[in-house]
Amino acid sequence: MLASCSVTEQHIRGRIGRGELFFWHDYWMGDEPLVNRFPSFASSMILVSNFYQNGSWHIGKLNDALLEDVVTEIMKIPIDESRIYEAYWAPTSDGKFTTKSAWEIVRQRHSINFVFYSIWHRSIPLSISFFLWRLFQDWIPVDLRLKSKGFQLVFKCQHCNSKESLFHVMWECPLASQVWNYFAKFFQIYIIHRKSIYQIIWAWLFSSDYTKKGHIHILIPLFIFWFLWVERNDAKHRNLGMYPNRKPSLPKPKVFSWQKPLTGEFKLNVDGGSKYDCQSAAGGRLLRDHTGTLIFSFVENFGPYNSLQAELMALYRGLLLCIEHNVRRLWIEMDAKVVIQMIHRGHKGSAQIRYLLASIRKCLSVISFRISHIHREGNQAADLLSNQGYMHQNLHVFSQVKGQLKGILGLDKNNLRSEFLSFHELEYF
Ligand SMILES: [Zn+2]
Repeated sequence: MLASCSVTEQHIRGRIGRGELFFWHDYWMGDEPLVNRFPSFASSMILVSNFYQNGSWHIGKLNDALLEDVVTEIMKIPIDESRIYEAYWAPTSDGKFTTKSAWEIVRQRHSINFVFYSIWHRSIPLSISFFLWRLFQDWIPVDLRLKSKGFQLVFKCQHCNSKESLFHVMWECPLASQVWNYFAKFFQIYIIHRKSIYQIIWAWLFSSDYTKKGHIHILIPLFIFWFLWVERNDAKHRNLGMYPNRKPSLPKPKVFSWQKPLTGEFKLNVDGGSKYDCQSAAGGRLLRDHTGTLIFSFVENFGPYNSLQAELMALYRGLLLCIEHNVRRLWIEMDAKVVIQMIHRGHKGSAQIRYLLASIRKCLSVISFRISHIHREGNQAADLLSNQGYMHQNLHVFSQVKGQLKGILGLDKNNLRSEFLSFHELEYF
């Protein structure tokens, strides 16, 4: 902490008031103390106020001590002797000190290692990311490693009876070669003469221009490592044998279905989203009665807003239409959990959305309502409308439902289930 002190001190700036700062040693003008430019004054502890005269700068004294260009700069600084010295923290936009900004200054940043960077992504389940992290650090306990630590074990590959090392399981084994070759051919990649796992992944990742995190080109080798490891463990601990083409057992698909509202109640499904770096936001909403019959559906292009604003706007416009249709009992369903929490917990929200939230609350005050979350997969109709919103200029009313939307509404009305499988549901540990 003390070692960091001298580093952070360099980012503190002072604003002169009564001039109680050291003229040569404090950071009261520019980005460095004056002593750096005038080292002959290093022993002087004179205060800034010594250069004041009747509320102004004493130009004669300044000229005696400094060069003309520095004097010119100082003369631009207004003197306010009614104020005391005020400290400013340079790294933040409001001048206030934050430990986070201080940490950013003192921390030692290593350059990003793309291999390790690529393993943390929403497309990769966390358990797999941790496995890969251990793999690339060579921390996976295969038999040769265990033997080197004194464990007496049979150390043979389950597939070919060769000595089992991590490199063998992941690369040298004929089974591994078969898997790598299959995918390498697919991506037109040629990886030869590799001597370590790190070299394999490095060669694969940089074999084409597609080095963006989360891209299929990046994900494939990572999943190959994972499934080779799963295959080895299944063979070793479950006696399932090792096969290059075994399909992983998948969990049961999750079932999402749309529920009809109660008799006399209406259901409003809304969805909003934003694209192109918040340059285009759109929303969709539809109201159905207890039989699942559509009362209205709208799509709307909101313009340049972020996703949260789009969700709130979709809800707000939907509520206005409900009030117009004299809806008194309403069940609101949306997939934006954050909005539901805001409504449930009475959040004030940020300044950016404060008026929008207030308008929504005003609408809700005249309706008997409940609001709940629905997975995007169950909110298909509103999701579809929201996506269509980008294609329209402003508000677009659907008087007749057709195409895909008609199909979705039919499924919802008849309580037919939609089945979805999320890769994030896969668990292997
Ligand atoms: Zn083998």
